[in-house]
Amino acid sequence: MARVVFDGVTKVYPGPVIAVDDLALEVADAEFLILVGPSGCGKSTALRMVAGLERISEGTITIGDRVVNDVPPKDRDIAMVFQNYALYPHMTVERNLGFGLRRRRTPRDDVRQRVDEVSRMLGLDELLRRRPGQLSGGQRQRVAMGRALVREPEVFLLDEPLSNLDAKLRVEMRSELKRLHDRIGVTTIYVTHDQVEAITLGDRIAVLSEGVLQQVGPPQDVYDHPANVFVAGFIGSPPMNLLKGRATGGRITVGDVELADPQVSEGEVLVGIRPEGLRPVGEDHAGPVFDVCVDVVEPLGDEVLVHGSIEGPVADVRIRAEDEALLADGERDRARVTLRLLPEERPKPGSRLRVAI
Ligand code: ADP
Repeated sequence: MARVVFDGVTKVYPGPVIAVDDLALEVADAEFLILVGPSGCGKSTALRMVAGLERISEGTITIGDRVVNDVPPKDRDIAMVFQNYALYPHMTVERNLGFGLRRRRTPRDDVRQRVDEVSRMLGLDELLRRRPGQLSGGQRQRVAMGRALVREPEVFLLDEPLSNLDAKLRVEMRSELKRLHDRIGVTTIYVTHDQVEAITLGDRIAVLSEGVLQQVGPPQDVYDHPANVFVAGFIGSPPMNLLKGRATGGRITVGDVELADPQVSEGEVLVGIRPEGLRPVGEDHAGPVFDVCVDVVEPLGDEVLVHGSIEGPVADVRIRAEDEALLADGERDRARVTLRLLPEERPKPGSRLRVAI
């Protein structure tokens, strides 16, 4: 097993496109690290550089104690599972699992032993005689993982491995992956654009935007203390409400609400409020209250999402990496807000809600 260190890693494609920009990141031995960010932010490129499938333009990648910049993929002791994992359709599960080892001329008994171990671990032992066409999507996914695991790699690289599965299976595979990692403890880097997957799976998550690392930390820390506006808006579903406000003398005015914050610096500010941070209150509520005009109500069974708008000189904020640009954007006289309520709190579209933070 091994740690993986990105040191000032940059990837420039012809164009030029800076896909990864001066990435510094250390993945600890046996850690499960998630690289997350919107499509095109450079996640796959970062992963493919670890695998040796893309050349590194600048900086170094170290696996264990070895700088691997010039090490060919087959000598890197990594295993990779892609979104479009291809199993050999004419081979049984058993032969699919053992393929990589046989190709490396591993002795037959050793192949059998490793395949047995891995298939037991992944619950595939009943399926060894079947061909991929006789398996469900989830089972096929497990075979693809198993095929990577039999090689006992030092580092496991996963690129959106669950995105081809239906929603229910994805949730199942998520917990299965987590259990599997806890058991085998191989250093794992997992790429996803799905921030829910990121939060539920990772020991730590690394958030990328436009090739630049925005924040690294345990999921709850990133959720509770986003480093910048991009992370605030990207992590969390539905996203955090970001409202433009103005601060003077330790008070923030946002819409027709005033909030106290003795530490706030003067001038324009962004106020971020999670959808679950807004609660409906009665007429007699004493503190600051938003008057929300309800547009769309989405009942989800266990909760209700309410999309509406609030009065006042507030602005919607578009999510970008540069905080300054955010403040200049999207002047409007009403700001959209999303609330996460209990089913019994469900309002009617067109109605008004008094909401406290
Ligand atoms: P992600 O995995 O986050 O969706 P990628 O790492 O695939 O992002 O891509 C990062 C950026 O690099 C994107 O702007 C993409 O268009 C660009 N890119 C990826 N591969 C190539 C390539 N082979 N040639 C040129 N540009 C590329």
